[in-house]
Amino acid sequence: METILVLTHADESGSALTKASLEAVTAGLDLAARLAAPLTIGIVAENPQPLAKGLPCAALAVSGSPYAQPRFSTDAAACTALCLAAKATIVLAPASSRFTRIMASVAHRMSGLIDTHITALSGTDTLEATRWFYRQRIEAVLTRQARPWFLLLDPGTNPAYASEPGSAPMEEITVELPTTNTTVTGLRAPEQSQQTIRPDAQLLLVAGAGWTKKQPDGQTHTPEAANLILGFLQATSASLGSSKSLVDQGGEGNSVLPFLTHLNQIGQTGATPRHAKGLSTCCHGEEPHVVGWRFIADRRAISLDPNCGWTRGKADVVYIADAFQVIGKLNALLIHPRA
Ligand SMILES: Cc1cc2nc3c(=O)[nH]c(=O)nc-3n(C[C@H](O)[C@H](O)[C@H](O)COP(=O)(O)OP(=O)(O)OC[C@H]3O[C@@H](n4cnc5c(N)ncnc54)[C@H](O)[C@@H]3O)c2cc1C
Repeated sequence: METILVLTHADESGSALTKASLEAVTAGLDLAARLAAPLTIGIVAENPQPLAKGLPCAALAVSGSPYAQPRFSTDAAACTALCLAAKATIVLAPASSRFTRIMASVAHRMSGLIDTHITALSGTDTLEATRWFYRQRIEAVLTRQARPWFLLLDPGTNPAYASEPGSAPMEEITVELPTTNTTVTGLRAPEQSQQTIRPDAQLLLVAGAGWTKKQPDGQTHTPEAANLILGFLQATSASLGSSKSLVDQGGEGNSVLPFLTHLNQIGQTGATPRHAKGLSTCCHGEEPHVVGWRFIADRRAISLDPNCGWTRGKADVVYIADAFQVIGKLNALLIHPRA
């Protein structure tokens, strides 16, 4: 019989589990019901007691100031101790940056195997795990005999478990911590309002190279493009993606949008984000770009070119229109909605 452990960790505030952790709890509950297997939740947090309260089953936790911040040595030691205490044969964990950097090491310490980028779990007699290969072009279902089997779950693939007021039992595990060479002195991050990549946003806005190209008046309008895009992001809290052509332009000394980097790039050599809706603007919709839209449910595009890739079955709706005009009008409506 399998024994399932879901590893979770607190968010930056320390007062709640991360959304991706709660998604892993949902996946663990489903799997435990399907395999009729016992489920334990492991918590890595400075103060786990209040976090365990709303959980649906018993929890094991590590606590104390070493877990207030992500750090390889302390997090890896904590997760190894939790796996040992739970005697887990299947370990589910969110693919957060905190856990992604330690989990292969934890699997190695437990003489187990790990698979990453898992998007679904299925099977009733045995566990089957789904992931995509070759830049989201081939979907495979994996089974393994080896135990413990560690599975890092891609964020956004399960609904987050809605904790309910309760009193699930929690046991604290003592961890023998190694000597640490790293002291976390604080966090430095751009203001939230300056962050353009927002994985939890409902909407993805993609900017293509057309924004910086010569327009029908024979001129480029890059500053206006920047204002329109930033205005749209501010009004909608959308996440900003880009085509490769647009982010590459910076390296060629061309007119560029200063807030875009290669981290915004969507596609074969970029990211494959998950959002409920996507709006592409001034982008041609070529296959190496659109392959990054695999997990965007509702796709729309604004392009001047009626023969662009979007019109050839890649989008649900294509507006053959000037994006400067459309986004300008949209922003006006978003900022001053009609009564
Ligand atoms: C191996 C390989 C990997 C690649 N990986 C990626 C990748 O990961 N991501 C990626 O994006 N690309 C990738 N590419 C490049 C990809 O093939 C395209 O070249 C790129 O996506 C084109 O970017 P674009 O559509 O923004 O620019 P363009 O092809 O220049 O298209 C600009 C579009 O904007 C439209 N336009 C201009 N002005 C307006 C306006 N005012 N209103 C509305 N529309 C307007 C034009 O009609 C045009 O259709 C890859 C290519 C290769 C060979």
